[in-house]
Amino acid sequence: MNTPNLAGIGMTSQRTRERMIASLLDKGIKNWAVLDVMRTIPRHVFLDEALATRAYEDTALPIGFNQTISQPYVVARMTEAALGPRVPEQGKVPRVLEIGTGCGYQTAVIAQFAERVWTVERIQPLLERARKHLSLVGVRNVRFKHDDGSLGWADNAPFDIIIAAAAPQHVPAELLNQLAEGGRLVIPVGTERGGQELLLIERTGNEFSSRVLEAVNFVPLYVGQVQY
Ligand code: SAH
Repeated sequence: MNTPNLAGIGMTSQRTRERMIASLLDKGIKNWAVLDVMRTIPRHVFLDEALATRAYEDTALPIGFNQTISQPYVVARMTEAALGPRVPEQGKVPRVLEIGTGCGYQTAVIAQFAERVWTVERIQPLLERARKHLSLVGVRNVRFKHDDGSLGWADNAPFDIIIAAAAPQHVPAELLNQLAEGGRLVIPVGTERGGQELLLIERTGNEFSSRVLEAVNFVPLYVGQVQY
């Protein structure tokens, strides 16, 4: 294995990371545990070397295959919403499902709060890269699957948290079915052209309540098309 570049890029790395955290605070992220985790995870490890110097800008960046690493603010917002009022002292969230692994950065963040994360990605080479990135940063509580994530991962349901990093036009019924009692689903819904909303859906018994968090701009969630 090549020596992982975990020390940071150049002398400015720690400073640029702090700037990213300051910008997240500025934009309204309040959960200190989430901010602390994002301060420690080296986002540049998840990117191509050519883009590594931009890793701590609060922006989405290309990861190949027409996909993007999510903007840090969006990762923070989704993680915060998924965790809800839970505090770290309550222990880890038992079971988390992620749809759309991409490069694995959001996976690494949510994995710090979870006993285990199951993550599903439809593009196999991205999944393999995510596997490598997560191993480089020492995240081991993740199980991977190459599949259509709109089906969830029924064998391991129910999940306390489900996070989707790509937007379907409607919330897939399977994801609702696989949500545990008291569970929280964070998912962007809509189209690239018509606009998307980030939803927080909570399950109480067989009732689902839904709240719009904000307008967002995700890549589409492809249903029924597994690639490569
Ligand atoms: N949080 C990721 C976001 C990646 S972009 C990151 O920061 O890297 C969204 C990802 O969702 C892409 O990798 C895309 O391939 C994947 N995706 C889209 N539709 C999907 C589906 N139906 N099942 C699984 N993954 C899907």
